[in-house]
This record gives sequence, structure tokens and C-alpha cells, in this order.
Amino acid sequence: MRPAPEGLPDRLRHFIDGTFVDSADGDTFEVLNPATNQVYIEAAAGKKADIDRAVAAARRAFDGPWPTLPPRRRARILHRVADLVEAEDKRLAELETWDTGLPITQALGQAQRAAENFRFFADLIVAQRDDTYKVPGRQVNYVNRKPKGVAGLITPWNTPFMLESWKLAPALATGNTVVLKPAEFTPLSASLWAEIFREAGLPDGVFNLVNGFGEDAGDALVKHPDVPLISFTGESGTGQIIFANAAPYLKGLSMELGGKSPAVVFADADLEAALDATVFGVFSLNGERCTAGSRVLVERSIYDEFVARYAERARNIVVGDPHDPATEVGALVHPEHLAKVMSYVELGKEEARLVAGGGRPEGLPEGNYVTPTVFADVRPDARIFQEEIFGPVVALTPFDSEEEALRLANGVKYGLAAYVWTNDLRRAHTFSQSIDAGMVWLNSNNVRDLRTPFGGVKASGLGHEGGYRSIDFYTDQQAVHITL
Ligand code: NAD
Repeated sequence: MRPAPEGLPDRLRHFIDGTFVDSADGDTFEVLNPATNQVYIEAAAGKKADIDRAVAAARRAFDGPWPTLPPRRRARILHRVADLVEAEDKRLAELETWDTGLPITQALGQAQRAAENFRFFADLIVAQRDDTYKVPGRQVNYVNRKPKGVAGLITPWNTPFMLESWKLAPALATGNTVVLKPAEFTPLSASLWAEIFREAGLPDGVFNLVNGFGEDAGDALVKHPDVPLISFTGESGTGQIIFANAAPYLKGLSMELGGKSPAVVFADADLEAALDATVFGVFSLNGERCTAGSRVLVERSIYDEFVARYAERARNIVVGDPHDPATEVGALVHPEHLAKVMSYVELGKEEARLVAGGGRPEGLPEGNYVTPTVFADVRPDARIFQEEIFGPVVALTPFDSEEEALRLANGVKYGLAAYVWTNDLRRAHTFSQSIDAGMVWLNSNNVRDLRTPFGGVKASGLGHEGGYRSIDFYTDQQAVHITL
């Protein structure tokens, strides 16, 4: 195993009321390095007692001053958080790569995005305006926006540092206090946030962290009566469980769930650009990306050429040590996840035609490595067409007409993202608007402005975050009516 990166703590603890603490019962769990599968650290395994402690601390911190500080004062601290992340981005990326197996160049980009999330919500909260209505001679009505209280944040293991920032920044900007329950495969980044917040001057108890498993710590957070809202990102099945468990408390829920997003390539598209983007769209971030374009639908007249060129590009992707800057696909997060992805690779060999990859790369006998895998002629009823694999595996399927392309694109239970490649202006818009997806990228890569809504439809999510939508989720809007 290569030496651990600089700044790794001796073990991962909870962070409650400004202090790193162990679990009340002393329980821990082992965390693996994805490139070797050796245990690299022990983490505190949180239970209900730890969640109770964290929620109590967050509840006390909600009494003040954080929720009532002028937005500019909160924004200053959030900008300091962003400064610290930017100043340390290389070290943070090394740690993220160590914990997750993400290629180092891509982890660096994610650290910078995390800083940007803090800057964005710091600015937004200062610029925030609410409605006032005057009925001449009768009434003035205005909106009094208030933070909700203790926000429960439950996050997955893919790009954990960045995804945690996507919830932490708006929750804190709006004046809530938080309890974060990070994913058990990748608990490191949450502890890094604790240190960053402390250094930035966030008051004790405003940010609390409890490590541990979903069915213990996550479950206790969802069922805690003093946590009025849960922002969850993870699998659709977990989302259903959380939805049911939160129901008796009528909690506010925001859910960013799984996907099986289509990339639709028409014959009139800029083929070179479409190939670049669709290869990147599923193989970047190890394919462990909610918005991955994991089904590529290609018009029949260009299909054979597309498949050949796509497979060639996939074969040229550099798989290897996540810390090597030349690496394009690193190690998958955990051996359990590797086993899941490999089971789909084997299934795909029965369901479709393998044209690239299909196993473990040569020269990498240990660690969670998979060669970028491309299946062609995938039928819409195949499981590799329907189910989220969440790894470097893609399904290519031909279509003959716009109607068939739309049927295929919408013919899965998910509806997170979609990508459309065509130079026909009318079709570009009508087709994009007909797709069941929360987000569509038209002749473009997966890049977005933080003011736009982020979220999915169907089994891919509930509600939208992003820009003012996040502010709406993390606040109550009280209408005050005054008779003149
Ligand atoms: P997961 O659902 O297994 O776990 C997510 C989190 O939920 C973890 O912290 C886990 O400990 C916790 N959890 C599990 N069971 C729980 C329970 N009963 N109660 C409370 N918490 C519980 O997901 P994962 O495997 O970590 O992440 C991958 C999934 O996340 C994929 O499906 C991916 O598409 C999805 N995802 C979606 C988005 C999006 O924005 N839509 C973004 C990233 C990832």
C-alpha cells in the first residue's frame, strides 16, 4: 500500500458540539482503501445514543446566535470555509482519492466544486429577497423566512466531499444547524469538514457529524422527533425506506436518488463531440455518478460506426492507481460494490454483445478495478438496460425513429438526467422537453450553473435543490398580514 496522504487522522470520530468524540458504546468499524482493500482506519460506529447527543447539541445551537445572525455574518464564515478548501484543495483531493478510489485529477475538480458551493450559497443568502405585497388602503403582506431547525443530512459514498458540501452550504447559509450522517464506505471527508468549520469559526454545535451505518445512525436520525427535515442522497430503495420512516413525523424531505440516464445520439449530431461527451459521461468518476449517461441510444444509420469508435475509445481509457495523475478510471469504492458491478458485467455477457472491457484489468490483481465495459445491441428489457449499475459499464442500443428513441429513453423507472445530441433545432427542443428527466443536457457536457434546479423525476427523486430552491427547502416561509 502506498503511504497514507498527509493529514490523515489516527481514527475517525464523531464531531458533536465542537469536539471529536467516540461512540457512546465504543463501537467502531473498519474502513478500506479501495486500491488495496486493506483496512486503513477505524471509524466510530454511531448508534441512536450518538444521534441523540448530536441532535441535542444542534438543537441548543439553534437557540442562537447562528439562526438569527445577519446573513452577511453567516456568509463571511461560509466564504472562509471556501477559502480554506481552495487553499488546501490538493491535500483534500489526495485524501478523497485515498478514501474513495476516484482518480486524483477528478477528485481535485470535486474539491474545487465544493468550495464553489460554499461561495455560491454565501452570496445567495446575502442577495436573498422575499415578497412584500401591498393592497392599497387595506393590507400589507410580507414573507418572514425562517430556518427550520436541525437539518438531518444523509449522504452517499460517491464524490462524498463535494456532495456533502451541496447540502451543508445551503443548510448552514439559511441558518439551520445540522447533523450529518456520511456514508459508511467513505467516512473520511466528513471529518475534514469538521476541521474546516472549526478553523473557519463556525460556532460549536452548528455542525455535528455522526459516523456509522445507515440502519443504525441513519435510521435514528430519520426517526428523531427534533429533526424536522431530512435531505437524502442515495439509492432509490433507501429513499423509499426513509420516506416511510419519516412519514409519522411529517418531515420535510428532499431526495436525490438513483438514475439510468439516456444519451440519445441522432445521425445529424456532431459525432466527434457526441463520442467525447458520452464516453466521458459514463466513465468519469469511475462511473460512480448519479447523472452518468449509462444508456447510449444511437440512430441506426450511424450505429455500427458509433459502436466501433466508442469501443475503441473505451479500450484506450487508462485504468490504474487513483493517485497517478495519468489515471482516468481508478478503483471502485468497495469490494461489495465491485462484486455488484462485476455481477452486471457477467449478466451483460449473456444479455448483449460485449465490445470492450468485461473484467479485471491486467496487472492490477488487487483493489476494486474494472476495465471500462461496453455492451452493444442491448435490448430494452435487459437488466443492464433497466437497472442502475453505478460503475464503468455502458449499454449501447440502436433506434430507427424519433418516436422509438423517446420510448427507449423513457422506458425505465428512473428520470434523473438525459443527454441529447442533434443539430436539428426543432427536434433538439421538442425531444428534450418530452424526456422524463429532471435535467437535460443538449449538445453539451454535464456542466451546470448552480442557480438551476437539480433533481430527478420518477424513481430518481423528490423535490429540487439548487439556487433558490435549496433556500426554499431549508426554510419556512411565514406569511405576515397587516391591516392598514
Ligand atoms: P445508499 O442508499 O446505500 O446510502 C446512502 C446513505 O444512506 C448512506 O449514508 C447510508 O448509510 C444511508 N442509509 C442507508 N440505509 C438507511 C436507512 N435505513 N435510514 C437512513 N439512512 C440510511 O446509497 P449509496 O450506495 O451510498 O450511493 C449510491 C446511490 O446514490 C446511487 O443510487 C446513486 O445514483 C445515488 N446518488 C444520487 C444522486 C442524485 O443527486 N440524484 C447523487 C449521488 C448519488
